[in-house]
Amino acid sequence: MDNRIDRFAEISKLSLEMKSNINDLFENGGMLRSKNVKAICSELSINIEELMLLLLPVAEYFSIAPISSFEVGSVVQGRTNNFDNFSNLYLGANFEYKNLSLNFSIHAEQAAVSNAWLNGEIGIESIATSAAPCGHCRQFLYELSGTNPLPVIMPDEGSKSIKKVDIQILLPSAFGPKQLGCEQLLMGKNLEGESFVLNSQIDDEFVLLVFEQAKISYAPYTKNYAACGIQLKNGSMFFGRYAENVAHNPSLSAFSSAVSRLAMSALVLSELPESKLANDFATNIKRVVFVENSTLSSQKKYAELLLSNLTNEVVLEYYQADVRNKK
Ligand SMILES: [Zn+2]
Repeated sequence: MDNRIDRFAEISKLSLEMKSNINDLFENGGMLRSKNVKAICSELSINIEELMLLLLPVAEYFSIAPISSFEVGSVVQGRTNNFDNFSNLYLGANFEYKNLSLNFSIHAEQAAVSNAWLNGEIGIESIATSAAPCGHCRQFLYELSGTNPLPVIMPDEGSKSIKKVDIQILLPSAFGPKQLGCEQLLMGKNLEGESFVLNSQIDDEFVLLVFEQAKISYAPYTKNYAACGIQLKNGSMFFGRYAENVAHNPSLSAFSSAVSRLAMSALVLSELPESKLANDFATNIKRVVFVENSTLSSQKKYAELLLSNLTNEVVLEYYQADVRNKK
């Protein structure tokens, strides 16, 4: 078993079997499968929210924060009950691009939600964070809850108990999708009544996989549907989808969504030195493919900038797609 698991104080005390259940998430890009969730909760006699808190230091471990050194972890509970009423848990951590300004950063809550979404979840039950979610993240989370409840769980330092507050309380008088007449929510169904087609005939399997992700990206305000795929030299692939936000700036770009998935990969972390510098893993990148429907909004230059910041050896492969109304 991976010896990284013993670095977490609370987890190092657990039995070998429990450690091995938790260890599974390192092999699954920060996803703890429901059968492991059930086994751990039963063995430790804790509920899923307590397990989410237990996993926050593990989530923080995935953080790459070379600028601020402020490591944040987040754990979300997927909505799908896959195993005896237990659902999967998805971890996320913050990511900062070294040598760029802080406003390109990916926040832990965005990373965890994106992890769940990219793994096929169509909603989340709750989210735990190692620090109170910032305003940017409250706005990001509101995009997937709208007026529906979404519990945000935080460790309550003083009483060592769980502090659980609904997003509606954390973001009163919210500006949300409805204010712009949008009935959709992040992680929900989109592109209804429309079809999404590539502008050129493509046989490249990797490009077609990225295209499939772009189809199910979320861009209700700009229609700038977009996805990004990163392929490493060893062949492994990581995908990201655009998650737009009604308040614009908290949107998660398709490129950053893919980078966040890459950063959650054990394979990357095992090659990452303790310093965890953001650019170190980029030497493993072989291809980066970007597919979008560029409207008045395009993420091409943004993706090129972020990629050139990570590596000079790879050029962004860019493909245009179109949204067409079905007859
Ligand atoms: Zn945040």
